[in-house]
Amino acid sequence: MADQFVDRTRNRRSTFFGEGLVAHVSFAHPTCAELSSVLADASVHCGVPVHRKGTYICMEGPQFSTYAEATMHRQLHFEVIGMTNVTEAKLAREAELCYGAIAMITDYDCWHPEHESVTGAQILATLQQNAGNAQNVLREAVRTLPGERRCPCGSALAHALITDLKIVPKATKKKLAPIIGKYDSEK
Ligand SMILES: [Zn+2]
Repeated sequence: MADQFVDRTRNRRSTFFGEGLVAHVSFAHPTCAELSSVLADASVHCGVPVHRKGTYICMEGPQFSTYAEATMHRQLHFEVIGMTNVTEAKLAREAELCYGAIAMITDYDCWHPEHESVTGAQILATLQQNAGNAQNVLREAVRTLPGERRCPCGSALAHALITDLKIVPKATKKKLAPIIGKYDSEK
């Protein structure tokens, strides 16, 4: 499970806001502790080895790391690298969704002297095994998820909307209605 992120993306949209509505959500704890706990417990139940915490560095890609980058990431104690999760974590928080990251590992990036010769075929085989494990973990997690949320994710926007909604352009309000509608008294 990743519970922290470092964002090294550059060329992607990572917010629903702008366009006349400024919002700053809290992101100190970017994953939902409750959902992550359910997912980790489900992993244990399915016999899939799990670390309950870890820092995920999200690089822009699509190229893999240079050796210098991979070495630096290890020195900074980042445990996992990928090209996806931090952006979806940010958007999930803004949309008040609970977010947890099952970060399944395929390979050792390029720093490991004994694993440099990993092949595409080996990575694909690991990926397929991971996909099977992920399906089992998700099946168990869905079965055990509590019926109601007790985490703060569902009110992430309560104190995050900076612009007075009275002066936000109608088009922006319409577009964002699914996530800000409950805060719009003029709706
Ligand atoms: Zn939550």
